[in-house]
Amino acid sequence: MKKTLIIANWKMHFNTHQASIYLSRLNRITSIHRNLEVVLAPTFLSLGQLAQEVDPRKFKLAAQNAYFKDEGAYTGEVSFSMLQGIVKYVIIGHSERRIYFNEDLPMIRDKVAAAYRNKLIPILCIGETKAERLANETKRVIHDQLTTALANLTSEEVRTIVIAYEPIWAISTFEGDIAKPQEIQKVIDYISYQISELYGSRVAQDVQIIYGGSVNSSSITSYLALDNCQGSLVGGASLNYEEFANIINKAYLLRK
Ligand code: PEP
Repeated sequence: MKKTLIIANWKMHFNTHQASIYLSRLNRITSIHRNLEVVLAPTFLSLGQLAQEVDPRKFKLAAQNAYFKDEGAYTGEVSFSMLQGIVKYVIIGHSERRIYFNEDLPMIRDKVAAAYRNKLIPILCIGETKAERLANETKRVIHDQLTTALANLTSEEVRTIVIAYEPIWAISTFEGDIAKPQEIQKVIDYISYQISELYGSRVAQDVQIIYGGSVNSSSITSYLALDNCQGSLVGGASLNYEEFANIINKAYLLRK
């Protein structure tokens, strides 16, 4: 059984000093939980410093993005290869990257492949917009995002991926609608079904599917109680270390 993943996506918040203070405060009020893996995703700038300070038994680090080429004349970019030894995970295809930075399906596919090439685990974000949901296109969108992103992987690689289902309409900085857990269950089941169609049921069982979208310490339990929901990607609510610690504790109580 894989550990439940609780991931803090800090987005473009906290300078290095603030990130370091957050870490030491969170560290003080959280214990090591055997069944949980708690992951912090700061900006690139803070990653080096946090990698020095973090207790790896308690927290792992993730990057929020990376570029698919390993090296070269790509001004402003950071490659997956440069993140080796610093992070365990890289968030790929977050809706803010897709929407504000025009990341398309082939680019996300190349980033997922680059993560594996560099021995990093992708946290692949997928999810539909409000308009797509209202037009009953959720399954088509999930199918297209999944099949493209996984296209160049072996089944051994797919086995280790983390898929974050993040309906865009539920993310706090977009519409922030509160998703009903039953609705999320249907999409998690569909993701699992799609993976088993492509790679077989054994691989599908191993893939870790998590949920993200306006999750906080009051709602986390209802999502983690879903069948096959093995964690959460938390945005806004992770910016307050006490609230994030409450989320970790709720997950711990459910999984202990
Ligand atoms: C996110 O952006 O990945 C996210 C889940 O944000 P929030 O929790 O703020 O909705």
